[in-house]
Amino acid sequence: MDSNPKLRFFQCPCHPSEPVKRVLKQPAASKILYCVQCLMEADSGSTAFYVPVEVLVNEVYTSLVASKEVKIDAKPPESLLSILKEEESLMKKLADHIYDQKSKVNAQATKIERTLVEAIQKVKNEIISKLDSQLSALQANFAEFKKQLEKHFEYGKVSSIISSKQDIMRDLNSSLNFKELEKKVRNYLIEMEENERITNDITEVREMVVIDGIKHFKTKLQEITNQFPESILAKEELFSTQWTQLTQKLNDFVLHVGKIQNEIIPLRPLGIESSIISPANIEEIKNLVMPKERRLYLKLLGKLEKNASNYDEIGTLASTRKNIITIMKTHKGEVLGALRCPLQICKEKDIHAVSFNLTKNLKKEESKTQRFTDYYVLSNSIFITSKKMLKGNRSTHESIKTHTLALNPQDYPALCVIHLEDGTHSGPLDKSYYEKRIQGIEELEVFEVFTN
Ligand SMILES: [Zn+2]
Repeated sequence: MDSNPKLRFFQCPCHPSEPVKRVLKQPAASKILYCVQCLMEADSGSTAFYVPVEVLVNEVYTSLVASKEVKIDAKPPESLLSILKEEESLMKKLADHIYDQKSKVNAQATKIERTLVEAIQKVKNEIISKLDSQLSALQANFAEFKKQLEKHFEYGKVSSIISSKQDIMRDLNSSLNFKELEKKVRNYLIEMEENERITNDITEVREMVVIDGIKHFKTKLQEITNQFPESILAKEELFSTQWTQLTQKLNDFVLHVGKIQNEIIPLRPLGIESSIISPANIEEIKNLVMPKERRLYLKLLGKLEKNASNYDEIGTLASTRKNIITIMKTHKGEVLGALRCPLQICKEKDIHAVSFNLTKNLKKEESKTQRFTDYYVLSNSIFITSKKMLKGNRSTHESIKTHTLALNPQDYPALCVIHLEDGTHSGPLDKSYYEKRIQGIEELEVFEVFTN
């Protein structure tokens, strides 16, 4: 047996010619496999965590051997085995459920596709029909111009402009349908108005009115040659604005409906029951918030549901009890947290709360907590608020909604207001203020803190 097995060639998705070489030893990280190129582009810092795959295999093997030594010399008790009796029925039930879900997803997607396609085809046909009508509209304008010339000048056919009543009625009767009749009647009404304007004036003015009117008509006709009708779809600048807005809305929609609620995640017996942090993160949190000689154990007390149905319960838990760490994953993928603790746990005395940003390795220690009615206060620097409403603070909520932040309150179970970073809020008005301070919370977990 080869004592030093090698990993075969696996293509790096970012650098197709490069093989996967190293592993980032942080199971919760979004990217754990690295080629040499990736390694060079990676954030410097904890480079000790990037180990060659072969080294990792050695470490895994050693740890497997060690864990095998913890073997209980007995059969597992019935209380542990009973769940296995349900495996088959549970799998069957889930399979039925998944089948049902898939057919609903298919039906819904088909409906969306059809609605979108129909809407586009409808508007396309309307535009094309409007474009076609532009030809006859111009032709009608030319015909009207000639008619005006014939009526008021010695032009074209010998003027027999006064029709008989019979002529007018014959004209109306020649209409093919109601619509055409309506159009003709409307034209007679307009013509009557025009005639009225002319005949109301005294004789010398009448000619001027007629000439002005026809000159104006001619100018308008000429203008058409300068600017032909254009569809927004065919006009690059106008269209691109509309297109950007549409794709943004579409992206929001896709992001929102693309989620799966109550997703089944891989369970581990000894790992921390968290979908946000790993055991390695706990070590980092400990280093941030606790004296060196202490150890930190966390027990999950609750998670915020994706639909925020337990928001008040979790908010109360996180904001009123002591020995509590709240961990949040933001829409930017950053991990934020707040520890509320009695004096004897924290590093320095007189500290009641520590707020931190694990991703940026930032923290702020605070001696007292303020009170707000609008939020749950996890620390002086971190508040959480429901996605539905910043309680009693409608104007702030409206500000968030109307700002062009990549932050749609409806996408997150909760929002978090932070000010871990001090400094002046420069930039136009409220926008930079909110960008700095308000984050969408994708996940939130509350842990009880144990320490030695
Ligand atoms: Zn790469």
